[in-house]
Amino acid sequence: MDRLILIKYGELTTKKANRHFFIKMLEKNILNVLKNYQVKIIKDRVRMYIEVDNKDVDEVVTSLTKVFGIHGIVICYRVNTNIEEIEKSVLEIVKKEQFHTFKVETKRADKTFPIHTMDFNNQIGSLILKNIDCKVDVHHPDMLLRIEIRSEGTFIYTNEIRGAGGYPVGIQGKGMLMLSGGIDSPVAGYLALKRGVDLECMYFESPPHTSENAKNKVKELANLLNRYSGNIVMHVVPFTKIQEAIYQNVPSSYMITIMRRMMYRICAKYAQKRNCQILINGESIGQVASQTINSMVVINEVTNMPVIRPVACLDKLEIIDLSKKIETYETSILPYEDCCTIFLPKHPVINPILDKCLEYEKRIDYQPLIDQCIEHIETIKDLNSNDYQDLL
Ligand code: ATP
Ligand code: MG
Repeated sequence: MDRLILIKYGELTTKKANRHFFIKMLEKNILNVLKNYQVKIIKDRVRMYIEVDNKDVDEVVTSLTKVFGIHGIVICYRVNTNIEEIEKSVLEIVKKEQFHTFKVETKRADKTFPIHTMDFNNQIGSLILKNIDCKVDVHHPDMLLRIEIRSEGTFIYTNEIRGAGGYPVGIQGKGMLMLSGGIDSPVAGYLALKRGVDLECMYFESPPHTSENAKNKVKELANLLNRYSGNIVMHVVPFTKIQEAIYQNVPSSYMITIMRRMMYRICAKYAQKRNCQILINGESIGQVASQTINSMVVINEVTNMPVIRPVACLDKLEIIDLSKKIETYETSILPYEDCCTIFLPKHPVINPILDKCLEYEKRIDYQPLIDQCIEHIETIKDLNSNDYQDLL
């Protein structure tokens, strides 16, 4: 009796025209997250079987629960389509389960199998009742035993593990995520990945005002997000000169607005260079002065690139719940400073005026500074390192 992992696509299968592309992308992503294991994938229109070494099954299933595009994961057993062998295996399988009530559901895809579906359900049901102290409940069984009889073999399985849902990462092109060390932006990244958007991350640092620890914290957040992707790289932008120029030339109430306009300019320019079609960030309407609708309009004015804000309409508590679910919360709340907070004015403007921004920006010869920033971006490809351990 072989143990196999069965993957169900769910939502994917409704997108008929793109199905082939979706499944290919999903297969590529699965192979990517399982690159350290010996796996073989067998796929058809509605499902995929993954063969792995028996000892790796549990770890592989854990990794698969983070792959978007998978809606259900089932550990199933494949036996030869032979009545004695099926019966023997069913008993072995159900003896490992804890249940009081059960139901058998047979699917007879191989019509040459001599027993009809209902009769086989009854036959297997009686076998279980004879050997285990339990009852049949066809409406709300504790355990649903499924038997799929196919020409290539018979597949037997019980409970289904819920998959991550969404679409395979990559089917929607690529976005540049503005990733800070906070709670919101990793959640924004997760939600974008879930809809199939591939991500690169951009982090603005201002040494010596921000530390190496702050950067390592963001790197760890990118690493945690990468469990849902496998393709993430992080670009670190040296932002000190621009921030200092803003500090010296702009009235304090407008410092954050101008700083964010500069971030958007750099992000949009570099995103194009990296073939990212959209910008993504963790802004949430009304959360702080720079995230009022009026602020967003004035900040967004510097680029035509679409800016997607996946958490725009969520409350902070809802965002926190998600960050706990995706296990970024504990890292996000580590106390390392961000470049947004170090020059934080006491009274940032809530309703900035565009003309004023343009006037203040004229005081800074920012174009060469932006070009310099972009020229000196450091790209980190290997996110998985021990730097994070030093922060704890
Ligand atoms: P977060 O929003 O991630 O919890 P935060 O609330 O401290 O952190 P804000 O000041 O609200 O961050 O910034 C709003 C958004 O701007 C962030 O979600 C992030 O997308 C982006 N951002 C802020 N600071 C940085 C930075 N240093 N590098 C990259 N992106 C940043
Ligand atoms: Mg925020």
